[in-house]
Amino acid sequence: VKLALSLVDAALSLAAALVLVLSPLSLRAAEFAAGTTSVGALQWLVYAALVGGGFLLLGLPLAFVSGYLVEHRFGLSNQTLGAWVREQGKGMALLVGLGTPLLLGFRALVLGTGAWWGLAVAVAFFAVTVLLVRLAPTLLMPIFFQFKPLENPALAAAIGDICRRGGLALEGVYQFDMSKNTRKANAAFTGLGKTKRVILGDTLLAKFSVDEIRAVVAHEVGHFTHAHLVKGLAANGVLTTALFLLAQAAYGALAPRLGYGPAGDLAGLPLIFLVLGVAGFVSQPLSNALSRAFEREADRYAFATTGPTPMADALRRLAEQNLADVRPNPVVEFLFHSHPSVAKRIAAADAFRN
Ligand SMILES: [Zn+2]
Repeated sequence: VKLALSLVDAALSLAAALVLVLSPLSLRAAEFAAGTTSVGALQWLVYAALVGGGFLLLGLPLAFVSGYLVEHRFGLSNQTLGAWVREQGKGMALLVGLGTPLLLGFRALVLGTGAWWGLAVAVAFFAVTVLLVRLAPTLLMPIFFQFKPLENPALAAAIGDICRRGGLALEGVYQFDMSKNTRKANAAFTGLGKTKRVILGDTLLAKFSVDEIRAVVAHEVGHFTHAHLVKGLAANGVLTTALFLLAQAAYGALAPRLGYGPAGDLAGLPLIFLVLGVAGFVSQPLSNALSRAFEREADRYAFATTGPTPMADALRRLAEQNLADVRPNPVVEFLFHSHPSVAKRIAAADAFRN
């Protein structure tokens, strides 16, 4: 159900973007923005509020169906309607707060670097991504969840031991209040440099045995010892550079035929995002394949550190608690899944044991 909804969402966004680019709608919106102020940067913000706001409104019904109705229908959600609305509000506030300086930075780069704008934007995008990964645990995630040091001292000691064995000097191990929103469980390795930390959902701590939690932490430490975050950032940097160079070339070829000016013409902005969006969607199986390879490697680290059985138990419990599809269609898995199927991961644990 979730996959079908996300594909409908992607198709709707694509259709809306095509209408915007191929009809005079974007030209009219840019004219309107130009009529409100003579300051170029402000014109971009007026245009972004108008067109970006339109896209947000268009996506809202599906976000409600997928994030609220479906979650409740399958008994996964702990959220009241009011809480869902508040979370959406926070997300949008963050989008505006981060999006405004990013959009103005994008404008300055495109107008300032001329023939090199694709490369300049790609380099800036990479720098911003690294900065956000670094700031995520301390600045962004606390907007949505409360983090506190792990309450169970025996568990904290066991986890500290696994981290030390992996050579991981953590800023800390934290638990967070996932249960306010959902019954699903999750854990992650986040941050960069001094903000490196392992975070565990309280939903995971409540339902998983100590051995299973140790296995989950060992999996996260496996991501660290194999430098997956750094490798992922590097791969992402190469991919986004290719995407921005493609967007620059496609814009240069298509804009004159569609009545838009050179890059930096406000009305042509959706054409750039359309190319980026379509190319990003098409390249998704590539990023997913890399992610699945990282997950297999992190699993193997957990098998070797805490034994294959606790990891297999944790995976079974995780699939049950999150209502994950244990054996998805292989084509669906190849195209859309960032993690190998639970059936394959448990089979890998069995193979490791023998
Ligand atoms: Zn993982």
